[in-house]
Amino acid sequence: MPDEEVLLHAISQSVQRARANGGDYPENVESVIDDEIAYRRGVIPALKQFKKHIKTHRLSKHDSPEIILRRFNAMRTLVQVLSIIYQKPVPEVRLGVITGEPGSSGSSCYIPAMHTIVLNGRLSVLTLLHEFAHALGKDEKAACKWSLNLFKKVYPRQFRRLMQANEGGEDSHFLTAGAANNNEGSGA
Ligand SMILES: [Zn+2]
Repeated sequence: MPDEEVLLHAISQSVQRARANGGDYPENVESVIDDEIAYRRGVIPALKQFKKHIKTHRLSKHDSPEIILRRFNAMRTLVQVLSIIYQKPVPEVRLGVITGEPGSSGSSCYIPAMHTIVLNGRLSVLTLLHEFAHALGKDEKAACKWSLNLFKKVYPRQFRRLMQANEGGEDSHFLTAGAANNNEGSGA
């Protein structure tokens, strides 16, 4: 099962925001891919370090509670490191409902009023990066761009698989299904 849930999340939140605000949002993943994007020094090594420590980019439903906790702690550390690099207050990262089920991480969210990221579903690193981008103050389009391009640089193989899953004119389905899955709090 490919990681549609991550794309669903990134895109659906954009769509819901756009419906609410009439704002600008990425129409599809390709439109936010930018190989020239520059990240602050230390960002890519931090994610590579995470990848080295935690082999897979998201949880499987067969993973044990110990693996879930190990992964969660590594994600928290990653958020701390990235916050230091960006000289921003470290957001709280909380475990929501962890099912490991495909399609389940799209309900993760960033709650601006609490400066808190809540992770649900599969503990997807791409979802974490997307929510962290919101914690940096980025809007939907910028959050998609920041997280997807960073993920692409460090997880090229997994990224290619995501893109393949996104092929075949399924965009409208993605958008509709994803919007129904959206749970994010307000604010960029
Ligand atoms: Zn979002």
